[in-house]
Amino acid sequence: MNILVTGGAGFIGSNFITYLLRRRKDVQIVNLDKLTYAGNLENLQEVYDHPNHTFVQGDICDQTLVDTLFKNHRINGVIHFAAESHVDQSIKQPTVFIQTNILGTLTVLESARKHWLNKNGSYKEGYQDARFHHISTDEVFGTLGDEGYFTEMTSYAPNSPYSASKASSDMLVRSYFHTYGLNVITTNCSNNYGPRQHNEKLIPTIIRNALALEPIPIYGNGKNIRDWLFVTDHCRAIEKVFFEGKFGETYLIGGHYEKSNINVAEIICKILDKLKPLAKNNKEIKSYRELIQYVNDRPGHDYRYAIDDTKIRNECNWKNKYSFEEGINETIRYYLNKQIKVITNEK
Ligand code: NAD
Repeated sequence: MNILVTGGAGFIGSNFITYLLRRRKDVQIVNLDKLTYAGNLENLQEVYDHPNHTFVQGDICDQTLVDTLFKNHRINGVIHFAAESHVDQSIKQPTVFIQTNILGTLTVLESARKHWLNKNGSYKEGYQDARFHHISTDEVFGTLGDEGYFTEMTSYAPNSPYSASKASSDMLVRSYFHTYGLNVITTNCSNNYGPRQHNEKLIPTIIRNALALEPIPIYGNGKNIRDWLFVTDHCRAIEKVFFEGKFGETYLIGGHYEKSNINVAEIICKILDKLKPLAKNNKEIKSYRELIQYVNDRPGHDYRYAIDDTKIRNECNWKNKYSFEEGINETIRYYLNKQIKVITNEK
């Protein structure tokens, strides 16, 4: 299969490509990424020169480029990760979120429609099994109170420009199934964490600031709850859904580890206290925990996200494998190694 992966130099995309190429020999991947501030070729170190991987730097909004890639590489699968993904940035600069997340998704859908379908909506010879997998977020559903879970039936109620742009892209993908019969699947997952996540996100910020002995900022009262999904479990779920899921369907993917932001910060500080104890003569602080500082809350900050992923468990036989303890330890070790590399290179 010739798969166009968009946004493959970002956090989840790069983990996914590395994961898939280790597991399958029958896929050729064309990785289209604009390399915005969030994309990094270092994330692709293991696979960049792999014979089944071709990297193309470019914009998903560039219709000519995307059409050419479909044609030249005979693309018959799309896994669409590329997006502006940081809620705080979307509050500061919403326009680029609309551009990339909505218009960019439309561009890739259009290429798939033109390349795979005849005018009457039937599939062209050789493209009968072509499929389009759209990667989305649970943030499209808005916020939960203390009780309850999101399911595939939950109404959309996005509260930030980021989640509104992702919700719009989900609707476009849905419309291409109902209007044109394009084989599409959407997955909406909870908060991911793991190696290669951009520094700006919560968990890397906690680890980085702790190691630099700088204040660890926590929004509001720290009680906002997220359902944490280890990135490798997400990659396993994407593989399952892409190859075995039912077209036109949506699947929710959850981590089953609901934690408040303050709880996450405290867990990380406790692990760092063991893995990288503060110097005994440090007069300022005895534990990284003392670096935690509450800061003004994010506008429109959703209180709680939590996922009921019964559907993917039953229909695709997927289940998360990593406990939060295992995932967070692996993540912390990754950032510790990264810090050691930076210090060694600086010397
Ligand atoms: P990321 O910000 O780490 O990576 C995004 C990648 O897309 C980057 O490599 C960037 O260069 C690329 N990109 C951005 N604009 C582009 C454009 N116009 N053309 C081509 N490439 C472009 O994001 P991530 O955390 O890896 O998220 C990947 C996808 O998963 C996104 O669609 C996001 O909405 C979704 N998602 C993420 C999470 C999470 O917790 N990280 C949770 C749910 C859903």
